[in-house]
Amino acid sequence: MSSILLQPGREKSLLRRHPWIFSGAVQHVDDEPLSGATVDLLSANKQFLARASYSPISQIRARVWTFEDEPVDREFFRRRIRSAIDTRQKLKVEGQSNAYRLIYAESDGIPGLIVDRYGEVLVLQSLTAGSEFWKETLADLLLEETGLATIYERSDADVRELEGLEIKVGILRGDLSSFVFPITEHGLKFNVNLQSGHKTGFYLDQRLNRLRLRELARDKDVLDGFCYTGGFTVNALAGGAKSVLSIDSSAEALELCKDNIALNSLDVTRQTSIEGDVFQLLRKFRDEGRSFDMIVLDPPKFAPTAAQAERAARGYKDINLLAFKLLRPGGTLVTFSCSGGIDAGLFQKILAGAALDAGVEAQIVEHLSQGQDHPVALHFPEGAYLKGLICLRK
Ligand code: SAH
Repeated sequence: MSSILLQPGREKSLLRRHPWIFSGAVQHVDDEPLSGATVDLLSANKQFLARASYSPISQIRARVWTFEDEPVDREFFRRRIRSAIDTRQKLKVEGQSNAYRLIYAESDGIPGLIVDRYGEVLVLQSLTAGSEFWKETLADLLLEETGLATIYERSDADVRELEGLEIKVGILRGDLSSFVFPITEHGLKFNVNLQSGHKTGFYLDQRLNRLRLRELARDKDVLDGFCYTGGFTVNALAGGAKSVLSIDSSAEALELCKDNIALNSLDVTRQTSIEGDVFQLLRKFRDEGRSFDMIVLDPPKFAPTAAQAERAARGYKDINLLAFKLLRPGGTLVTFSCSGGIDAGLFQKILAGAALDAGVEAQIVEHLSQGQDHPVALHFPEGAYLKGLICLRK
């Protein structure tokens, strides 16, 4: 097996069990390993540290499979997959929805591999050279361990480019009669399009937060900014909201949002859609003196990495400041960031600044996060990306 010799002192993060080795930490690579091949990571004094996958192009040059001196083979991956499935079973995720994350990459000990279950179909995303190297084995094991027959591949995330991998989308195992079918989440139905839906088809990470919103929405005038296919809109209506105004820049998303309202036989007369830019529309509403009891802001990632954090912070401050202004006294702001580059502390500071500049007083009444099917390995804090706050305006 090839090995990577690290620079002196660069074993520290591995000893803390962080699974990434950056290119700058590498002193020497033996034998030109293939992209994704398994390599040993050695400290500068040649001590075995971990066994990892090799990414020749990426800045993250290696990702750890195991810190033990054990074979990385089919049975190794079977154990990891089984353990991930067990975690979801223990946490009773199936009781919440028939669509949930089954494998969450580094957080489940399989860097690069994301597998989401939508009913009887698995959707697989392979994001790194290592997961690509083992993809066929992983696909076979996934079917063996779940007893399912179909895997659809959605390896179309931009990060693949950093690994020198091309986009791959299509059926990997079994067959599909339709790309669109309804899932049931906490009793509500949503049509998911596996081919064109965001991520692997749906924002599975907001499942618990959508339910929370349902519990709080009764008799409220709700604004759902960045509504996509209506995750929060449908829950607000189901929770008895007086009215829901749903905004998205995508006309297609708004159409699917309407379909999802109809799918649940909810009162369409209580809902209005506006196609447009949330930043501009919130300004316009402020100028018109409009107000709401509850505002949901679930924007796309403004800062994928820490480098874009400053610009992103301005974006978050802008929309949250406007939202505080549009909230009636006693109103509720449900606000999110899924930017990896903005941590929970910074997000809270941004909100504090927004409330201050809006001239309102508010308190955080709840911290929200991704669900139990997106666990976070203690040594891999990067796994926690979704941050949400429920704030009450005084
Ligand atoms: N809350 C949704 C997910 C939101 S995803 C759920 O639970 O399913 C983010 C959405 O924001 C996408 O649908 C995208 O089309 C929309 N979007 C991105 N930038 C926007 C902007 N400036 N104004 C309005 N919508 C925007």
